Amino acid sequence: MSIYDDLGVKTVINGVGPATRLGGLPVSEPVWAAMREAMSVTVRISALQAAAGRRLSSLLGVPACYVTSGAAAALTLGTAVALTGSDSARVDALPNTTGMPNRVIIQRAQRDPYDHAVTAAGAELVEIGYPHTTHTSELERAIDERTAAVLVRPGAPGNLLTLRTISEIAHAHGVPVIVDGALRVPPIERLQQFFADGADLVAVSGGKKFRAPQATGILCGRPELIAAVALHHQDMDEREQTWMSGEHADSPEPWAPSAPPRHGIGRSMKVGREQIAGLVTAVDRYVNAPGEDDRAGLAELDILQEQLGAQASTTVTRGFEESLDVPVLHLDLSRTGVDIDTVIRALATGDPAIAVGEDHAWRGVLTVNPLALLPGDGARFAEAFTRTLDRLGAESATADGASA
Ligand SMILES: *Cc1c(COP(=O)(O)O)cnc(C)c1O
Repeated sequence: MSIYDDLGVKTVINGVGPATRLGGLPVSEPVWAAMREAMSVTVRISALQAAAGRRLSSLLGVPACYVTSGAAAALTLGTAVALTGSDSARVDALPNTTGMPNRVIIQRAQRDPYDHAVTAAGAELVEIGYPHTTHTSELERAIDERTAAVLVRPGAPGNLLTLRTISEIAHAHGVPVIVDGALRVPPIERLQQFFADGADLVAVSGGKKFRAPQATGILCGRPELIAAVALHHQDMDEREQTWMSGEHADSPEPWAPSAPPRHGIGRSMKVGREQIAGLVTAVDRYVNAPGEDDRAGLAELDILQEQLGAQASTTVTRGFEESLDVPVLHLDLSRTGVDIDTVIRALATGDPAIAVGEDHAWRGVLTVNPLALLPGDGARFAEAFTRTLDRLGAESATADGASA
């Protein structure tokens, strides 16, 4: 009996992809094996973090890395470092930012619900520009002695300031630039380009296309900034007499405070051995066995497309999800005469339960992402989808007849 049967929880065919509300993607066997192995013996987390950081930065070709419990946690930790550096008193004070620069500037066009991860550290967001444009002068005017960082979320359309322009202006004022790369990385080339364009810190998700354990992420950045992350994040139940501050960090300059801080704001975002080992293995696989773990889901997408092709009322086309760098199916329901929200709910509560992408629901189109599809899901999806549409179509015809 599976744990889900035991608990009485229904499994779901995941046509959405790496969504946190659906628990993310399945992990590959090598990732599993690494997690199991990592949990069977004890190591110091500080040593493991430092070693994992070195391996990740060499795999990804970036200056330094730190393993977090997700890209959102990476944004909080990155903001915390921008607010405090390695000042123990400031680390202890967060999220109270009295007496320190605490403003994070963001272009209005790049606002996102994940901004909460930045304000959680104690920062205050300052918007510049308009929904589709920002002027250079608006950034120049906004930066002052209260500015702690500039947050950049690439990918939004509009005549916006480029990362390169932002970095030049911010750096001229000694202000670091934090990039939310969660929806843009991988591909790894984009991550490297962020650094080429001047990023100081980049938040990356492990649970998206890297296929690492769902609750993992990476904060990439300049070594002296990354070295300070541990102060906010690691367990500080230490005696000051024996605390080995910065013992494992690869910092080009002394960064460790003279006295240890207490548990920081990141303590509630802890990562375990298994998460760190799983993430490193998943990124290694992404780099050294490219595409291999995506193949099974893509085959299911082909099966689904073929079997739904026979469905006269639904137009099935192939799309491409640029943000996740993956092909998807678009199921256009606009000619079926059935309300799309009713279809989504019926699929979610049906047997088997199916979750579909809703990004294009406003125009009558469902999206199917292949990354989480398991062997057999394509055929099961096609059968359940056809059955559901037939039933809802018949019901709405009856209702129309009754009201006529
Ligand atoms: C997914 C996402 C995050 C959060 O990533 P997690 O790894 O789930 O914490 C942050 N920012 C953006 C833009 C995202 O799409």
